Formats: sequence, C-alpha cells, structure tokens
Amino acid sequence: MSKWEPCPRCGSNRVKSTGMFMFVLLGICMISFGLWLLIFPIVGISMLFIGVLFLIVSPFTKNTLQCEDCKKSWKYPAGQSKPA
Ligand SMILES: [Zn+2]
Repeated sequence: MSKWEPCPRCGSNRVKSTGMFMFVLLGICMISFGLWLLIFPIVGISMLFIGVLFLIVSPFTKNTLQCEDCKKSWKYPAGQSKPA
C-alpha cells in the first residue's frame, strides 16, 4: 500500500488511496442491504444493482488517490505520457 505520490495540485504528502477496497466494501454492503430490502422490490433490486455495479467498477479504481488537504482525487500514476 505504498503506491502513492504527492498531490499534483498542492504538493501535499497527506494522500490516501481511495482504492478498490472501499468500493468492494460498499458493494457488499449494498448487496446485503438490498437482500434485506427485497420486501420492497423496487428498493431492494435497485440496491442490489448498485452493489453489483460497485463490485464491477472496483478493479478500475485500484490506483485512485485522494489528497486530504485539497480533496483532489486523481489516477496514479498521474499522466503516464508525462516526461520524467
Ligand atoms: Zn492537494
């Protein structure tokens, strides 16, 4: 979990990864709530659907970082075409 870089906007080192784990967790929560809420089919089914969506997008959010100072979020590594 050491894959990070300083914030490209403000240069802060207080950067955290808002990656896959959070999305997987959210997806699982949504699905379990959705199962309970199936007594209200419209609510339950839409929650299940959203939960599955979270699980689907989670692998693509793996390297997303967020700055705790200015709240900017970006993909890591930022701009692969950028010359070192
Ligand atoms: Zn920042």
